[in-house]
Amino acid sequence: MFRLDTKVALITGASRGIGRATAIAMAAHGARVVVHYGKSRQAAEEVVKIISDAGGEADLVNFDVTHSESVETEIAAVEKRHGRLDILVANAGIAVDGLALRLSDEDLDLLWQTNVRGSLIAAKSALRTMLKPKQGRVIFVSSVVGEMGNVGQTAYAATKAALHGAAKSLAREFASRNITVNVVAPGFIDTDMTAKLSDDQREQLTKVIPLGRTGVPDDVAAACVYLASHAARYVTGQVVRVNGGLYM
Ligand code: NAD
Repeated sequence: MFRLDTKVALITGASRGIGRATAIAMAAHGARVVVHYGKSRQAAEEVVKIISDAGGEADLVNFDVTHSESVETEIAAVEKRHGRLDILVANAGIAVDGLALRLSDEDLDLLWQTNVRGSLIAAKSALRTMLKPKQGRVIFVSSVVGEMGNVGQTAYAATKAALHGAAKSLAREFASRNITVNVVAPGFIDTDMTAKLSDDQREQLTKVIPLGRTGVPDDVAAACVYLASHAARYVTGQVVRVNGGLYM
């Protein structure tokens, strides 16, 4: 039901964390996976090796999501190399935390360029390849704080909320082409991004998560596999929350 055989999936920011888990999960479900990385070639190569060792197919692509031209050129090259691009998971993102009154213009610009512009340029490039075959899946990775807000995350939350509006608009614009566009909004997931939380912060956080634990990357990867699969053919413009019940 959730098989992705014959599909080509590009996952941005796949050298670690949620992107890495999603790349491995999609390959395990039969997709040919393009593992995107920004700086960590070695870590990305390890992901390709894990997939190959398990009998799957994967290769690499490198670009900085803030460089629009490279995003467009490299995604077009992926389509040329594989003859198709069926699934994009726009996962690459950064968090810059800090109280609102201390936010600098530079932080705002960097967050916008990476989380919003980077995801939208990648989506635009992927959607262009999906038009003719009249099929495709775009999945944006946002965040629970895009819906519920968080102290110290004003700018980050704004960029993630922006993806919700973008996904819903794209979902409407591309529905007639049989292309779905959805969002996966993770809660607090154990990755490098959340590694800086102190034990005390983690304990406080766990107390307000109904399922009583922080998430793991595989929790989010499973939602991405579902949305990419045939099983989700009638799901578009939706936000799938993977947050242990933190926000309902
Ligand atoms: P992570 O920091 O481990 O991974 C982020 C990935 O994005 C890295 O591979 C990084 O290299 C890549 N990236 C960042 N900027 C880039 C750029 N300019 N060009 C190319 N690649 C770039 O974090 P993660 O926790 O795995 O996060 C993945 C996504 O999930 C992010 O969009 C994040 O905002 C979102 N998210 C994470 C959590 C969490 O608790 N970890 C919660 C909600 C949402």
